[in-house]
Amino acid sequence: MLRFSDVTVRYGRNGTGDAAVRNLDLTVEPGEIVALVGPSGAGKSTVLRLAAGLVLPTAGAVEVLGVDTTTLGRRSHRSVRSRIGSIHQSFALVGPLRVAQNVAAGRLGRWGLVTALRSLVRPGDIDDVRADLDRVGIADKLWERADRLSGGQQQRTAVARLLHQEPDLILADEPCSALDPARADAVLAVLTAEVRRGIGQGSDRALVASLHDAPLAIRHCDRIIGLRAGRVDFDLPAGQVGQQQLGRLYALDGAGDARPAGAE
Ligand code: ADP
Repeated sequence: MLRFSDVTVRYGRNGTGDAAVRNLDLTVEPGEIVALVGPSGAGKSTVLRLAAGLVLPTAGAVEVLGVDTTTLGRRSHRSVRSRIGSIHQSFALVGPLRVAQNVAAGRLGRWGLVTALRSLVRPGDIDDVRADLDRVGIADKLWERADRLSGGQQQRTAVARLLHQEPDLILADEPCSALDPARADAVLAVLTAEVRRGIGQGSDRALVASLHDAPLAIRHCDRIIGLRAGRVDFDLPAGQVGQQQLGRLYALDGAGDARPAGAE
């Protein structure tokens, strides 16, 4: 699903800034549900942007679904791109369009131009769209303009769009950041169920999510990767992550402002 080989990223002109990610080796296999946790600035978003091909490594290589991300933009890799579903912190909705059209756009990568344009007038698979909105609890917002929704509703619309896409690899950057705790649990449960549903049924799926709320990550994910200053601090099954790991991860370098909820 994902392979990082000795990856370093430096932002800034000509890659001269501090390393946001340093010499990172990481592999994600089909069926894995992985959380990236760590203090603000640890490199979680950068890892997800690398995986999506939105940031290219300054050194090393990133392969997603068997494709080197430096070539992901090629026309011939369109079908690979359509198998990757991302949720960004900005939600990336089209404000003046209806929720239905935004969710339907999840399948844009599979459509030709005519179908895509037609969907602007009326989404074709409206029953599926409604069902995906229902899974995140906002089926009643189907015909609402996206820019009239609250932040949490916009985030859930972005999750519904991802469910509608049915990607093999889900890359979710803080997918619950705008939600209250109960709703965050519900949305993460839907996302992980989507991956688990495919296991053993021939569809190889995986999820990698950054989550600042470490207890939430431990409740829902199978593998927890603790990142600090662009490096892997620990990489453990969720059942083996406790106060010892989290205390160390969040307590260093004056990063106390980003302690996980529930951490002492
Ligand atoms: P996290 O998601 O864990 O908060 P990020 O990946 O966003 O961490 O950031 C890692 C480091 O890279 C931080 O020091 C941050 O300031 C820096 N960084 C992130 N994005 C950019 C950018 N677009 N330009 C310059 N520096 C950036």
